[in-house]
Amino acid sequence: MISTVLIAIAALFLGSCAALTTSTSATADLGAKAVKTIFTASEDDELRESQVSPFDDSHRAISNLDPQLREALQEAAAAAKEQGIKDFWVTSGWRSRGYQQELLDQAIAKYGSEAEASKWVASPDDSSHVTGNAVDVGPTDAADWLSRKGQRFGLCQRYANELWHYELAADSQGQCPAMRPSAAS
Ligand SMILES: [Zn+2]
Repeated sequence: MISTVLIAIAALFLGSCAALTTSTSATADLGAKAVKTIFTASEDDELRESQVSPFDDSHRAISNLDPQLREALQEAAAAAKEQGIKDFWVTSGWRSRGYQQELLDQAIAKYGSEAEASKWVASPDDSSHVTGNAVDVGPTDAADWLSRKGQRFGLCQRYANELWHYELAADSQGQCPAMRPSAAS
């Protein structure tokens, strides 16, 4: 009886090994892109999309934004469209801490030091994307429009080196605070 069970377990084990071997080689054949898709944290995959409609409330990059920021963004996007801006995307909105850390790690690898990287990417503790208080906008025409017209919606460019990064920062008079040279300054 026991040996029958052991044989059954062994058969199951061998069967699953065979299946694993088959799927591994199939994955390898699909190339690097497929492997990356399989091994990235699937819950953050949609946050990596860089052309999200500001009106897509089902997307976490949009739905997890501060509600007032989201409303201002949608009003601005509608106005931009009326004024001939054909494309208006959120290239990055709300971010999970894990995704923010991933972006910081990439920036450190790219710029060679944490100090240089911090001019472009904040830590998960400091990022206004993680708290839902910032959006990055693209393409350049949309960001340029927002840099000139965003103030009337309360949306302010915060850093001189980031034409794309906006926060709901205008005061009660509709004035944006002075821009800082970069997030690290
Ligand atoms: Zn940003």
